[in-house]
Amino acid sequence: MKDRTLLMIPGPIEFEPAVLGALGAPTTSHVAPEFIEAFGQALERMRKVWLCPSGQPFVIAGSGTLAMDLAGANLIEPGDKALVLSTGVFGDRFEDLLTRYGAQVTVLRAPLGGTIPLEEVETTLKDGTYKLMAFTHVDTSTGVRVDPQPLGALGRKYDVLTVLDGVCSVAGEELRQEEWGIDVALTASQKAIGVPPGLALLVAGPRAMAAWRSRKTPVGNYYVDWSKWLPIMEAYEARKPSYFGTPAVNLVCALNVSLGQILNEGMEARFVRHRKLGQACQAAIGALGLSQVPTSHEYAAFTLTAPYYPENVTGQDLLPKVKVAGAILAGGLHPQIKARYFRIGHMGTTKPGDLLATIGALEAGLLGCGFKFEPGVGVAAAQRVLLG
Ligand code: PMP
Repeated sequence: MKDRTLLMIPGPIEFEPAVLGALGAPTTSHVAPEFIEAFGQALERMRKVWLCPSGQPFVIAGSGTLAMDLAGANLIEPGDKALVLSTGVFGDRFEDLLTRYGAQVTVLRAPLGGTIPLEEVETTLKDGTYKLMAFTHVDTSTGVRVDPQPLGALGRKYDVLTVLDGVCSVAGEELRQEEWGIDVALTASQKAIGVPPGLALLVAGPRAMAAWRSRKTPVGNYYVDWSKWLPIMEAYEARKPSYFGTPAVNLVCALNVSLGQILNEGMEARFVRHRKLGQACQAAIGALGLSQVPTSHEYAAFTLTAPYYPENVTGQDLLPKVKVAGAILAGGLHPQIKARYFRIGHMGTTKPGDLLATIGALEAGLLGCGFKFEPGVGVAAAQRVLLG
């Protein structure tokens, strides 16, 4: 029997052998020709994955929070007004982060599991004084997805920079950065991008770069200052050696392999696969009689599912049993409901069979906890969607 427990949390995810191979290969110099080629190619591929041909990609060692820091530090000057649309923990993190850089932050906070009506966003932006609007494409703490397209349009209409936290969406959920007018889209390596944790990834569009260029004050954070990193990204893309801080050589090589795989699948096919996986998982959860944190299917994410535990079942009881049955799931994260729900990740490398195995393991765990249902109903509901 294969000794393998599926890692089905909303990041880190299961990684492809070729990606892990690149990670485990002998480390080269950061100015070796083969590394320069891999880095340059990775930057070119990011534009295609983000669907942002005019964007400037940045790859910097760190986690997704560092990518958020890159956006905040480079685009905010003390006193700037920022609007944060919060659909969970990570929206709240943006409030904290932008405040550190001196922004006057207004937060529109969605009810738990809900979204913010567009009219409310527009009414707020109408006062005409906002420089930047930040929002979370998929908030991993609630499983709520917001639609970036109308927010990008509002950003254009009111001349406000839009910053999309795509840590739980980029390369999974449909995102067309340039067409939708999103100025910054950021993520981290460990989710749908399919590379072990350690890289902050960001693509900045021309309006974001122009806003940074016209700053009156220096960026108040040394490590993330684009004036340090832009020449480095440009040099690697021009296939020239350069140095500011040592790049995470093996992670960048692994990133290039994974981006190549993503583009081989194709962005359109990838969006469709994720939509199917999300809908299949949600159908399974519904068939098992569990409710979910997002209050409507309309805005339930396709990269993760966030079900509530059934009555009288706890995470401490359920999750270890699901693990024994073959799948590792994540507990809750949102402080208001942390102990009442769990999360299933299905992004990046997830295949239909992985999801069916996961739902099977969840059924085994639920039965082990004494929850009553017809065994197989969840798997059957998922399968119907996957085959439909
Ligand atoms: N934003 C979102 C939507 C996330 O899901 C996460 C990580 N779960 C982050 C930001 C922060 O990323 P990291 O943990 O890599 O710093």
